[in-house]
Amino acid sequence: MSYADHLISIKQLLLKNNAKIIAHYYVDEQVQRLAEDTGGFVGDSLEMARYGSKQKETTLIVAGVKFMGETAKILNPDKKVLMLDIEATCSLDTGCDYAEFKEFCDTHNDRDVVVYANTSAKVKSISDWVVTSSMAVPLIEHLTSLGKKLIWAPDKYLGNYVIDTTGADMLLWDGSCIVHEEYKTIELKNMIAKHPDCDVLVHPESPRSIIQLANTVGSTTRLIEASKASKKKYIIVATEKGILYQMKKFSPNKIFLEAPTEGEGATCKSCGRCPWMNLNIVQKLLDVFNAKTNEIVLSRDIINKAKKPIDRMINFNLNNKINRAS
Ligand code: SF4
Repeated sequence: MSYADHLISIKQLLLKNNAKIIAHYYVDEQVQRLAEDTGGFVGDSLEMARYGSKQKETTLIVAGVKFMGETAKILNPDKKVLMLDIEATCSLDTGCDYAEFKEFCDTHNDRDVVVYANTSAKVKSISDWVVTSSMAVPLIEHLTSLGKKLIWAPDKYLGNYVIDTTGADMLLWDGSCIVHEEYKTIELKNMIAKHPDCDVLVHPESPRSIIQLANTVGSTTRLIEASKASKKKYIIVATEKGILYQMKKFSPNKIFLEAPTEGEGATCKSCGRCPWMNLNIVQKLLDVFNAKTNEIVLSRDIINKAKKPIDRMINFNLNNKINRAS
C-alpha cells in the first residue's frame, strides 16, 4: 500500500470513529506524517496531553508509549484513549515499581516527591509533582527556594543534571532510559573532532559525560528549536532518532548525525532507537479500532489522585510561560 492509500484509509477510519491521532516525536517517521496529514498532532508528552483535551473528537489514538496514553486518559477521562500498541512501555516507567517506590517515599516522608512524566499513573498518584525535562530546572529551583528537600524519580541522569544545575537536596531513584544511557563519550568526542563545524544537541536523560559535550541540553521541543536556530552545517543529535524527521523537515540543508551508541569495532555505531517507540508502525494505525486490547483503562480513584500533581505541573508551566516538555 502506498503512503497516499494509507492516508485515505486512515482518514476514513478516523472520521468513522470520531478520532484523532496524537503522536510523539520519537515514533516512526511515517506515523508522524500520518498524524500531521490527518489533522492530528505531533509533539512532546505534555503537549500531546494538552492537545488531546482541546479536541472535540471522543477518541484519542496515542502513538507513543503507555505513560503518554495514561496521561492523556487522566486529563481526558471521558474520552476513549487507544494505544497503537499497548505493550509499548518505557524503561523509566518499568524501572519504578509502585510498591517499591511507595516504600522508598514512606521511608523518607519528610521529602516532597517529584516524578518525571515517564512513570505509571499509580506512581504519579502518590507524588506531589510531575515534571517534564523542560521544567525540571525551574521547578526544582522554585521548590529549593522554599526550603524543600526532595525525592526525584525515576531518571538518575536527569536527576543528576538537575542537581548539578540547581544544587538541590534530592534523593534519586535508580532508573534510566535504555536509549540515552547508551551514548558513548569517547566515540562522541571522536565524532565532534571529525566535524568541527557542528553543534551537539543532547537530551538530559543522557549520562553527565555526554551532557558535558553539548552545545544545547534540553527537551525534545527545545532540541528541535536549537536545530532550527543552529548556523552549523553538522548537527550531532543525542536523543531517540525518531526526532530526526522533524529536524530534517525544518532544516533540509543541514546534515544530521546520530550520536554514537557503540564503541570501537561495532558495525552499527548509532542505534539510538527505542524498542517501544519502534512498536508504533503504520499497520497498527489501520488496525487500531479492531485491536480490542489496546484501550487505556484507569480507575477513577487513580485518575483523581494522579491528576493533582499533573495539574500542578501544568499550572507551574503556565505561570512560568514554559511551553516545552520532554
Ligand atoms: S526513549 Fe527512553 S525515555 Fe523514551 S520511551 Fe524509550 S525508554 Fe522511555
